[in-house]
Amino acid sequence: NQKAIIIGSGIAGLAAAIRLTTKGYQVEVFESNAYPGGKLSEIQIGSYRFDAGPSLFTLPEQIEELFLIAGRNPADHFQYSKLDIVCHYFWEDGKTVKAYADLNKFAEEVETKLGEPAENVRKALKKSAYIYEHLAPLFMHRSLHQWNTWVNLTALKSYLKMGKLGIFTTMNAANEKLFVQGKMVQLFNRYATYNGSNPYQTPATLNIIPHLEFNIGAFFPKNGMHDITLSLYRLAVDLGINFHFNSKVEEVLVDKNTAIGVLVNNEEIHADLVINNMDMVNAYKSILKKQKQPTKLLDQPKSSSALIFYWGIKRAFPELGLHNILFSDDYQMEFDHIFSKGSICHDPTVYINITSVCKDDDAPNGCMNWFTMINVPNNQGQDWDKLIEEARSSIIAKINRVLKTDIESLIEVEEILDPRTIECKTSSANGALYGNSSNNRYAAFLRHANYSSEIKNLYFCGGSVHPGGGIPLCLLSAKIMAEMIET
Ligand code: FAD
Repeated sequence: NQKAIIIGSGIAGLAAAIRLTTKGYQVEVFESNAYPGGKLSEIQIGSYRFDAGPSLFTLPEQIEELFLIAGRNPADHFQYSKLDIVCHYFWEDGKTVKAYADLNKFAEEVETKLGEPAENVRKALKKSAYIYEHLAPLFMHRSLHQWNTWVNLTALKSYLKMGKLGIFTTMNAANEKLFVQGKMVQLFNRYATYNGSNPYQTPATLNIIPHLEFNIGAFFPKNGMHDITLSLYRLAVDLGINFHFNSKVEEVLVDKNTAIGVLVNNEEIHADLVINNMDMVNAYKSILKKQKQPTKLLDQPKSSSALIFYWGIKRAFPELGLHNILFSDDYQMEFDHIFSKGSICHDPTVYINITSVCKDDDAPNGCMNWFTMINVPNNQGQDWDKLIEEARSSIIAKINRVLKTDIESLIEVEEILDPRTIECKTSSANGALYGNSSNNRYAAFLRHANYSSEIKNLYFCGGSVHPGGGIPLCLLSAKIMAEMIET
């Protein structure tokens, strides 16, 4: 059998390992951490369990596909359910909205609660479906770096619709046209944060995202988000894939412009293919530092990062669900701080993810596990200790105002994740969550391809390369990469 080495066991690394094994490769995965999953991991603090990174799960069929190609019945290995309420939204003036998965119910809810005509919501989601239908086949499911992506009937149909796909306007401008209420504009602008971008700069094309959440659905894995990692890891082990943990790759070995293996713990390990799942920017700075650098791609602005407080809360809040948003009063100022000032505003939008609502053993009886997160700039060497202290006070003050509580007195355990620790734990450049930002209309073309144009037999997958960050796109990166490889 031909041998493939995968550097990193993030979600895309796991998917790549499974895909190449099913193509007949003998696969070895080298992972610098002691555990698989990269950003998709978990932490346990006392009797509280937290999903450490991603919390929103869409397109579960992508996980199922990996079981199917391996000849397994997905339902025997990975279970999940569809959410009835996608998110609970709160504003400081006391207004609240439940984003029901049922489109008509959601449209009625915003008409009653916010005065937004139900028809506008239906129109917005129809538009979102339209963008998805025309752009997903081109930008999500295929390499942008192969001629046959651009010369086919699907591509031709999309070119004809370019004007209607939001490429020439910003997400905010498009949403201001669609909705009459500022709160609805804010609610739909939030989707820019799903890939770490700024709704006041990113093209309206990103209005594709609500389609995933509303028209297709948001889901929760029965055993938490980390079970995505665990179930794929178990499948990989079952398929005979060899994992080496605590094994940091030091260099990709290249001979005559061909990748021939990796250097790990001063040992040369040879293979026919090398697949890099490590963040592309840091990979070029370290394990590919002797190779030609794709400078333009490396210099692209990165997505935002996150500041997370994992809090064990010794009380239940019945008004909260799995996903909760406490909106800032001035959204534009918030993004201005993140993307222009490299700072955090005094009134950030607070996201609280509480898996114990769906999985009750994640917190003791009558308690909740709060993953409390705000979007923050990526790491540019700011004084994070100071920023974190100030942000913690702003977050607590906001929660107290909106939920009419004294949250500090209810925090039983605490751990913090910030851009510096995200970079340390997963090697992601500047601690950015999603690789490059999508703040300009050319961003899709300025991501690294799923292969190296300079080095034969070297491939790339993961959130820092095409088609982008977030679980669904990472899984597609592994699929596009595997489809390029001939058996
Ligand atoms: P990563 O998870 O980045 O893993 C890369 C792996 O490579 C790591 O395990 C690392 O240790 C390993 N590695 C690095 N260097 C080396 C080396 N030299 N040798 C060996 N191994 C190495 N996405 C969503 O879809 N929904 C969400 O709700 C969401 N929320 C998020 C919240 C947070 C706080 C974070 C951090 C991310 C979030 N994301 C979300 C984004 C999502 O987590 C990522 O896009 C995705 O998990 C990245 O996967 P990846 O395959 O690129 O690898």
